[in-house]
Amino acid sequence: MSQRTTTTGASEPHVAVLAFPFGTHAPPLLSIISRLAASAPKTLFSFFNTEESNNSLLSTHKHYFLPNLKPFNVSNGVPEGHVLGGNPLENIELFIKAAPDNTRKAVAAAVAETGRKVSCLVNDAFLWFAADLAAEMEVPWVPCWLSGSNSLSAHFYTDLIRETVGVEGSEDELLKFIPGMSKVRIGDLPEGVFSQSLFSNIIYSAGLKLEQADVLFTNCFEELNPTINTDLNSKFKQLLNVGPFNLISPPPKIPDTNGCLPWLDRQKPSSVAYIGFGSVAMLSPDELKAMAEVLEASRVPFIWSIKKSLQESLPNGFLERTKSNGIVVNWAPQLDVLAHNAVGVFVNHGGWNSVLESISCGVPMICRPFFGDQYINGRMIEDVWEIGVIVDGGIFTKTGLLRCLDLILWQEKGKEIRENVRNLKQVTEKAIGSGGSSMENLKRLVDTVSRPNQK
Ligand code: UDP
Repeated sequence: MSQRTTTTGASEPHVAVLAFPFGTHAPPLLSIISRLAASAPKTLFSFFNTEESNNSLLSTHKHYFLPNLKPFNVSNGVPEGHVLGGNPLENIELFIKAAPDNTRKAVAAAVAETGRKVSCLVNDAFLWFAADLAAEMEVPWVPCWLSGSNSLSAHFYTDLIRETVGVEGSEDELLKFIPGMSKVRIGDLPEGVFSQSLFSNIIYSAGLKLEQADVLFTNCFEELNPTINTDLNSKFKQLLNVGPFNLISPPPKIPDTNGCLPWLDRQKPSSVAYIGFGSVAMLSPDELKAMAEVLEASRVPFIWSIKKSLQESLPNGFLERTKSNGIVVNWAPQLDVLAHNAVGVFVNHGGWNSVLESISCGVPMICRPFFGDQYINGRMIEDVWEIGVIVDGGIFTKTGLLRCLDLILWQEKGKEIRENVRNLKQVTEKAIGSGGSSMENLKRLVDTVSRPNQK
């Protein structure tokens, strides 16, 4: 970016925003920043992200880049000539290792280019080195936890959990000693709590650092986890739940190239299973086969979002035989699909964005968690919010999946679950409505980030 983006208002606020360019992290962060930028037009927001991720956002989420919200590229940390081995964790680790230096350089370049000193630092909470960067720049530090306050609590209390249950607690032990987490089991905790991998340590460090944040904001809403939020409110300087971001700052429409929506128009209300596991998780060949066999045998109408590379592993003739009963797509217009009244259940991985989207559309869930916060999200869905179930044994088998589909789509218990999620949908609408908790918190957040630096 060679041209000066703005030279006016050198003393006006300038918020540096640091994105984590993996999984579905950068798009929701950009969405909320865009909302802040719209509310604070005199504040400049510089969005630091890898070139790959920025280019992808510029092609699919361009409308978020308002005149006062500019993308800036940060190196992906892959050394020249290095050949990547194909494990996604390698990309994350290389990026994180080099991120502090690369970010310092990119921020300095943006300040020179725009002529505006940074007045506030906002970052994806995974990038905890931002705490030091904010201290160096003597600006407020405002990290964003892009998941729910339930996983935030797990990370915040990691040391307490380790001290209380030991490093290898029994999987079924309940976290009764943490407010609002009494139904969560040790086995539901994200890797950052017990494992010592580089990535786990990054999240562990983030959990420790967050106490220092001037303001911490989340893609969650107060009413979802009231006990947890009350507890965390007393731990952080200021905790602002301003979600769900998908409602506060709606994403662009995804083209319906496979005709999912007209097909849904022809299905009965609450009859269709929408199946999708986000951008990273992948079913094993056995689970893929179990899923395909259940869909074929049960005749449950379905839309299955499954990556092209995996579609080749579907049983021979599956697509042909199920043509009249379902649609297989590479990438679905998920929000529009979930919002359609024909969808009766969302079979997913417990990814936070998917969970919030399902709640905001009032759709019950069947969860098959894979990693990170997905297990704890699944536990909340089944045992606390009672808006879905975790698949038996944690992986798809023919009998387990069939039982879950039967329960949600056809049993009395399924009706209760549907009612619960529809009630929660209404709570969500209130939170983002005028005077609602997320709206009020958003005003506080706008006020914080758009203030000239007073440190
Ligand atoms: N998504 C989509 N179409 C698909 C699959 C996923 O639009 O076919 C979107 C979905 O709406 C959500 C995101 O991708 O916003 C997935 O985010 P999530 O946090 O659930 O999972 P992750 O990708 O981080 O594992």
